[in-house]
Amino acid sequence: MEWEPVYVRTHEKGLLKEKIKEAYTLLESCVLCARRCGVNRLGGEEGFCKVRDEPVVSSFNPHFGEETPLVGYGGSGTIFLTHCNLGCIFCQNYDISHLGKGYVTSSAKIAEIMLSLQQRGCHNINFVTPTHQMPFLIKAIEIAAEKGLSLPIVWNCGGYESLDALKILDGIVDIYMPDFKFWDERTAFRYTRARSYPDVARNALREMHRQVGDLYINAEGIALRGLLVRHLVLPERLAGTKDLVRWLSEEISPRTYLNVMAQYRPCYRAFEFLELSRCITEAEYNEALGWARDAGLRLDQDIAPIRRIFF
Ligand code: SF4
Repeated sequence: MEWEPVYVRTHEKGLLKEKIKEAYTLLESCVLCARRCGVNRLGGEEGFCKVRDEPVVSSFNPHFGEETPLVGYGGSGTIFLTHCNLGCIFCQNYDISHLGKGYVTSSAKIAEIMLSLQQRGCHNINFVTPTHQMPFLIKAIEIAAEKGLSLPIVWNCGGYESLDALKILDGIVDIYMPDFKFWDERTAFRYTRARSYPDVARNALREMHRQVGDLYINAEGIALRGLLVRHLVLPERLAGTKDLVRWLSEEISPRTYLNVMAQYRPCYRAFEFLELSRCITEAEYNEALGWARDAGLRLDQDIAPIRRIFF
């Protein structure tokens, strides 16, 4: 049977409309993420993430720097959403996440963007930092699906999702791509003020994996469904990589697909913290990669880029 994205069937069953309604209801006392601000965003109130009742987009483009099975040969169709519900003080995209670079738009416009990325040959629609804007995005998915969108949806998020939001996304998202940022709650609090981050992220990843399973990559090397975890290695072992990779292997799946990211550099307010005021060393990165390999995980670093095979 030919593969089709999960939201197509959900829409055919008439469930997408119900989910959109449910998602907008969550905005009345917002619990879209684990900050659970409880503000009425439909009534003009603002929570931690600063987004109210309209989508805010920063940019969109075919992206060739994402994980290998997302990039393929046509690129990943990224749409960067403005602001963030987590707000790490060292964020490399701080102009978007903290300073709010972007423009207010509509779900209909986002649907147009999605269709244009499909037209340009992208393999997926990759919503970057989407959770705090979830209702507007699933409305956009509905509009785009009615106009022929047939690409997998990638939810490229911070791991600080509420289970209320994830329940709604069940049957809409094809590929979850959460970060797992901090294993230790004191570290999480120091850099995000979200002490509950490790617990929330563990629960979120369990739920994501329950919904979509391990990452499925087709014969052409393109990801169609499943869980792909990102982990940014921090200086001084601050991210808790060793514990995280063991937990992923033992509690999620030994087949978990993981990208161990090396690109940490001090940005935004990172220089306020001595331990974050430098890049990681090669030895720190290799140590983290070694732990992930020892845990038996599938690593993005071990997959040859497809474009080198095709061109
Ligand atoms: S999405 Fe999260 S941070 Fe934003 S208002 Fe809702 S609960 Fe608060």
